[in-house]
Amino acid sequence: MVLFDEDGQYVVDCGPAAVSGGHWVDVTPIKGVFISHLHPDHGLGLYSIRWAVQRPIPTFLPPDTTELDDEGIGHESVRIVNWLSLRPNRLDFFAAVEVDGLSATALELCHGITPTQGYLFERGGVSIAYLIDSKGLPQQTAELLDAVDVLNCAVVDATYRPGREDPRHNNVDEAIDLGVQLAARVVVLTHVGHHNLSKPELEAHVEERTRGFDQEFICAYDGLTLTF
Ligand SMILES: [Zn+2]
Ligand SMILES: [Zn+2]
Repeated sequence: MVLFDEDGQYVVDCGPAAVSGGHWVDVTPIKGVFISHLHPDHGLGLYSIRWAVQRPIPTFLPPDTTELDDEGIGHESVRIVNWLSLRPNRLDFFAAVEVDGLSATALELCHGITPTQGYLFERGGVSIAYLIDSKGLPQQTAELLDAVDVLNCAVVDATYRPGREDPRHNNVDEAIDLGVQLAARVVVLTHVGHHNLSKPELEAHVEERTRGFDQEFICAYDGLTLTF
């Protein structure tokens, strides 16, 4: 996801597509990079961005904790040694930072054994919550978002098809329920897996499930642009 303002952009996670399609890096100055966790689908693009010939780019990462499953096996993740233009900072859950007028609060998420953080971005009265990868929300995160006056947009993990249960990701129905709980004006359903419904089926399902709601639910697609 990319947040644009008048004179720059903030990159929020960057997967493999950013490696091959790095042209966008040069279009507008990158003011900051916010990473939820370093699974390859969220961090491989860092290899592209770090070459950006710009001023140093503040880069925010989740807490660094060992990630091993019950059998002592780690999930594959991106490990960068030479950060070049990137300036990595570890954030504690619920810590807040400000980068050129954009406020970002790190939100603890539920992504199995992987320490993962979403973000609440706030600027000029606009609030956007980024909540992937996660199955539901920890109570403290839910309470923090509940206290937001108006949540303009929530970007929600909707990895699996209806009925599929997983401890690390929502299915589409759980994502819709979370969007309702958050009372966001616009709910963007994303991180949709290849094993989910086909795009037309998914859009029809979401339309059916959210008909009459006073919130807008959107199935994300490449190039989706929203203005707030
Ligand atoms: Zn992940
Ligand atoms: Zn992911």
